[in-house]
Amino acid sequence: MSSSRRKFLQSAAAVSSAALLSSENLFASTQKVSQAAKTAPIVISTWDFGRFANADAWKVLEKGGRALDAVEAGVQVAEADELNQSVGYGGLPDRDGNVTLDACIMDEFYNCGSVMALEHIKHPISVARMVMEKTPHVILVGDGALQFALANGFKKENLLTESSEKAWKEWLKTAKYEPIQNIENKSYNKDGGKMPGGIDNHDTIGMVALDANNNLGGACTTSGMAFKMRGRVGDSPVIGAGLYVDNEIGAATATGVGEEVIRIVGSHLIVELMRQGMSPEAACKEGVLRIIKRNPEKSKGIQVGFLALNKKGEYGAYALQKGFTFSVKSGSEEKVYSAKSHY
Ligand code: ASP
Repeated sequence: MSSSRRKFLQSAAAVSSAALLSSENLFASTQKVSQAAKTAPIVISTWDFGRFANADAWKVLEKGGRALDAVEAGVQVAEADELNQSVGYGGLPDRDGNVTLDACIMDEFYNCGSVMALEHIKHPISVARMVMEKTPHVILVGDGALQFALANGFKKENLLTESSEKAWKEWLKTAKYEPIQNIENKSYNKDGGKMPGGIDNHDTIGMVALDANNNLGGACTTSGMAFKMRGRVGDSPVIGAGLYVDNEIGAATATGVGEEVIRIVGSHLIVELMRQGMSPEAACKEGVLRIIKRNPEKSKGIQVGFLALNKKGEYGAYALQKGFTFSVKSGSEEKVYSAKSHY
């Protein structure tokens, strides 16, 4: 363990979580993630902005709440954040100017729910949960998902913010569709503010948690690729691709170019590799290697990041490119890590 990490862990107990959120310590530049045994509860999520979501998930977990409730509450933070242009309200629209949202959720009993291409609803994750709990189905899409949401009390809202509309109009000038890589800490600065000029066209929040009763839950929500074709759905709401939870083994989630993740059914693959004894990080790395094997040339120009948690509370991540960060919150740490990457 590095001395700065040790120092952080020693001081963590003494410092309030509010203070920790603004702390420099959150930004561990180290590529090495310690795998010291962690005890439940713990929550991890994709990207540095995940730390804000973790904080709300933690409020549920520290009271002994269910992982499922924690991940729903957690990712709602990103969905409601208008500065976050890749999830929920304020998300960048498709090429026709419609904000279309994808989300899925999974509990400790293999129950799962998903919405795809849902418009006008700020919290698609909660609609996905309702699909899981109130219907005999797993997936609702488009107008059907909207109809279901409205019938269940969700409010119809305009999700296209001024700045996302501006970005879309700017994009229309060239209308060039080019998924860009997520560069280290590009979308958010260390205080959580938007970095000037940086528009990432993908950045999903995927979150998995292990609660005090040793049960897992997971959620994944996104506005998908910016300026995507109307109707395009990525990996994020696809159970097994963007998210998978197996309460015997562990849970995994993904971010990045969804088409590549779907092709290898990434999150399910990672959980199965953990079942075979791999550590979360090794399993995530294997997932990345599969993507590279399929198309080595293409893999050089895109980003995919995987994040996983096992039943022991051990976590790990791996990405194609540098720049994938993830956020961790447990009783003993609150930190943002840079994942290791192939390139
Ligand atoms: N995976 C998401 C999608 O393909 C986007 C992202 O995570 O960057 O829609």
